[in-house]
Amino acid sequence: MDVPLSIISLIQYAANYHGEVEIVSRTLENEIHRYSYRDAYIRIKKLANALKSLGIGPQDRIGTVAWNGYRHFELYYAIPGIGAVCHTVNPRLPEAQVGATIAHAEDKIIFAEPDFVSLLEEVAESTGCVGTYVIMTDEARMPETNLANVLCYETLIAGADEDFANQDYDWPSLDENSAAALCYSSGTTGRPKGVLYTHRSTILHSFAACMPDNFGIASRDCVLPVVPMFHVSGWCLPYICPMVGAKLVFPGSRMDGQAIFELLDGEGVTMTAGVPTVWIMLLEHLRASGKKVPRLKRLLIGGAAVPKSMIETFETEFGVEARQGWGMTEMSPVGTIGGLKGAQAELSRDKQYAYKATQGRPVFGVELEIVDKSGTPLPHDGKNFGEVRVRGPWVVGEYFKDAAANEAAFDAAGWFRTGDVSTIDSDGYMRIVDRTKDVIKSGGEWISSIDIENAAVGHPEIIEAAAIALPHPKWGERPLLIAVAAEGGAPTRDGVLAYLARHLSKLEMPDDVVFVEELPHTTTGKLRKTALREMFKEHVLPTA
Ligand code: ADP
Repeated sequence: MDVPLSIISLIQYAANYHGEVEIVSRTLENEIHRYSYRDAYIRIKKLANALKSLGIGPQDRIGTVAWNGYRHFELYYAIPGIGAVCHTVNPRLPEAQVGATIAHAEDKIIFAEPDFVSLLEEVAESTGCVGTYVIMTDEARMPETNLANVLCYETLIAGADEDFANQDYDWPSLDENSAAALCYSSGTTGRPKGVLYTHRSTILHSFAACMPDNFGIASRDCVLPVVPMFHVSGWCLPYICPMVGAKLVFPGSRMDGQAIFELLDGEGVTMTAGVPTVWIMLLEHLRASGKKVPRLKRLLIGGAAVPKSMIETFETEFGVEARQGWGMTEMSPVGTIGGLKGAQAELSRDKQYAYKATQGRPVFGVELEIVDKSGTPLPHDGKNFGEVRVRGPWVVGEYFKDAAANEAAFDAAGWFRTGDVSTIDSDGYMRIVDRTKDVIKSGGEWISSIDIENAAVGHPEIIEAAAIALPHPKWGERPLLIAVAAEGGAPTRDGVLAYLARHLSKLEMPDDVVFVEELPHTTTGKLRKTALREMFKEHVLPTA
């Protein structure tokens, strides 16, 4: 039967067949809120009704400025449920870009948590498209604001028909290819660009992502999405968990090691996901407190390169399987996921970890190619590297209202250019060498900044490191390593170079090492190399 795929069907399924399963959220007030999929669906129906009464129609964009929590979850369903588009605004973008993305999306309503009200006041002048602001709280906690047309979320929901909870909402039948959500890239290498996700792309992506070799989520799991719901739909975990009936735990605004540990431990989390910087904080907390996480089975780490040492530490010290994932806003986000194949179970430990340190194999549904500068496909031999091009039912087909970006993003055959450079081996394991803009070009050879960083964080006294290219009179460019010492550590330049000499080739060896208190990160926790290049542009590499 030709039944259209729809996002609302996920929560209907969860309410019907996993109705008692909990959704747990840490609130802004640092309290724990609990309710079930069945309760959530009742409120989603009321919210949908309220949205309609506010005049929202098909394909209207509605912005959310919110942390990971139950009200944001409700919006994830009510908005696409009535055929509108949920634009998750990234509040960590620079203020001007927050305003620019809201204006570009032409959001008609913004749903915001109270602590983002001042941000919205700052950008109000550039966001005249917004007719109504709904503050995601109850009457008692409504903040003072000079925003116009402000409503209270709980009052809005309470205003829905009293009998409403007992009726099924008359959800419109939607074209599965219509847009359901909108996310802007986080702008690591340029300005944010808008990507629309359809009902179809979201459901297909969620099916693929939750398979055993990928996120591996089942009804018995308890999942903590640390990855923010304001970026790439929280890697679709708020869709995947209802799809299988897994318990969901939302961390709210607190993502420090202690807060994450409390939820992992207290809620019995079995699977969690986030960028490497979050897990650096958790590891620091676990080591300092001597605590363990015995119920946590699996950790998905992605969004930036994952050092092999991090994967090993989680597995050997804490008994948690750590899988690396690679993807991007433009891919919903999943492209590849790490993990061993059956045949690799017999390999030596070192060889197994070499596989685990790659970005993994493509999930079913994503086609991957690497191409040289002329666009010719390169062999999948684990050695040749080139730009990664992708194709698939959840890969962006065009950016939202952005002709300039579209022109550069697709090749003649319609494949999407990722801007990442990698190798692929004969088993399909992809190893990201770099982003095209971060790769260090030395004497005609390419050096992977990621390889240098991964080697550097293997040093016991280094917690985080970044390698950038600096101009060099002879070689064109050479690497500079910028490192942050681990707590209590006092690494020296020469000591680090001696350590690296055991792990890197001569070509890859940084010409210099400098130490900083902390490294700049993007809004989604990646190293901000553009800022580092600016900070160190006057740094002179030793020539001897
Ligand atoms: P932005 O493009 O603004 O950084 P995204 O979150 O979409 O926002 O970032 C996608 C990019 O992040 C990828 O193109 C890649 O460069 C990087 N990335 C994601 N996962 C990994 C990974 N596991 N290893 C290395 N790089 C990664």
